Amino acid sequence: MKRAFDELKPYLDQAMALNTALVLFEWDNETLAPEEAGGLTGRVIGLLSGQYFQAVNNEQVVALAKQCEAEGNLTEAEAAQVKELEKELEKLSHIPRKEYEEFARLTAESTRVWAKAKETNDFSCFAPVLKKVLEYQKKFAGYRAKAGEKLMDVMLKDYEPGFTTELLDQFFDVIRREIVPLFHEVRDSKVQIPDEFLTGDFSDETQEKIGRFVAEYTGFDFRKGVMAVSAHPFTTNLHNKDVRITTHYTNRLDSSLFSIIHETGHAIYEFGIRDDLTQTMVGQGASMAMHESQSRFFENIIGRSRSFWEPIYPKLQEAFSENLGKVSLEEFVKAVNKAQAGLIRTEADELTYSLHILVRYELEKELIEGNLQVEDLPGAWADKYEEYLGIRPETVAEGVLQDIHWSQGSFGYFPSYALGNAFGAQLYYHMKKEMDIDGLLAAGKLSVIRDYLREHVHQYGKLKDSRQILKDATGEDFDPGYYVKYLKEKYKALYQLS
Ligand code: ZN
Repeated sequence: MKRAFDELKPYLDQAMALNTALVLFEWDNETLAPEEAGGLTGRVIGLLSGQYFQAVNNEQVVALAKQCEAEGNLTEAEAAQVKELEKELEKLSHIPRKEYEEFARLTAESTRVWAKAKETNDFSCFAPVLKKVLEYQKKFAGYRAKAGEKLMDVMLKDYEPGFTTELLDQFFDVIRREIVPLFHEVRDSKVQIPDEFLTGDFSDETQEKIGRFVAEYTGFDFRKGVMAVSAHPFTTNLHNKDVRITTHYTNRLDSSLFSIIHETGHAIYEFGIRDDLTQTMVGQGASMAMHESQSRFFENIIGRSRSFWEPIYPKLQEAFSENLGKVSLEEFVKAVNKAQAGLIRTEADELTYSLHILVRYELEKELIEGNLQVEDLPGAWADKYEEYLGIRPETVAEGVLQDIHWSQGSFGYFPSYALGNAFGAQLYYHMKKEMDIDGLLAAGKLSVIRDYLREHVHQYGKLKDSRQILKDATGEDFDPGYYVKYLKEKYKALYQLS
């Protein structure tokens, strides 16, 4: 007799195939699609999304998933797929299809309104639609909440399973208590770090040539991946043999360089997923934060270290000889680690980055709990920037309207960015006990570092959640203390603080 899973598998395969097609359209949209393609291609995407919904959420699939559980003869990977499917079904089954579709239409509109509001620097035209998006998300979370469960906790589950508001409150409390004062010390220090040589009139060709070299050096496999240009750098993957990254070229040398190392970190994760898991429902990174932990580990902990650049800095100097010819390795490394208050999250340095997230976490919690009205967001935003970063946005475009997330209904997404930083630091201190990271980097042996991460993090995909991966890899539960230790060691040395 056929096992229930063998009958379920064709449905899962179909869902994954549709998903792969959607991912490819998304990639194409951001990179190569012509300007006028939007309307008609949007229709194709809508139809494919509907088919995906149907492939996952239908009576046979629900029945087969239950049967799989009852039979109990699943391999580890199969059991994980059924669990992931049930999570997806749980989400969809509580929400009436009509409301689900209304919400999809609403967010298509709200992202457009947001883009316009940002362009015209006008929050008042965005506020009514943001209110609707927020109400929908609260309603959906309400449908899914178990007795006594907080709405924010339901929302967090979609991005970071295993992390509740209780845990996140503790985490952000550590950031408020430790990182905010550290940043204030750095800001008030007398140490000046010159970085004007990072700005210049660099040709796209030279930036691309060096970018491809650095990507490959860090671990991007061009036989299984491509690199293109888009407005905002991102990574996407069809499976573990086709991973795609993008970058952008500006007048800041470090902007494309470090965005490429960042996206390469995401790509290394996806390349490392096991062959028996890729193209299944558990064949992606464990969570948003675990993914960010890998990209930020490579971008910041590895990519901004002196030892990473030691073997390859001459090559960079040669490519940009006008700007870097007389700049020493030490001066370059200091410049790419400079910390200063800025208004824009995506341009933030390593020290201030999590402060931008702290602001967003506190505000979205208040919005969801009903303690803050949408109309009052711009002021509350500016106040928090002043408190933590010491600067106030003069426009809403540079303030509350800078990120797309809330317009898409992604409440609870932001904390993942900060958690990723902290996961990376915890893994780093553990790895330091097992290997001489600086020595390996100075010798250009990055493969040892990549192999370690593949073995302990990447290969599992979603077989384990992020907390379990951390526990198994480091022998400890999540501990933000490592992140604080890392930032203190690094920035106290850089800014000569006691
Ligand atoms: Zn990222």
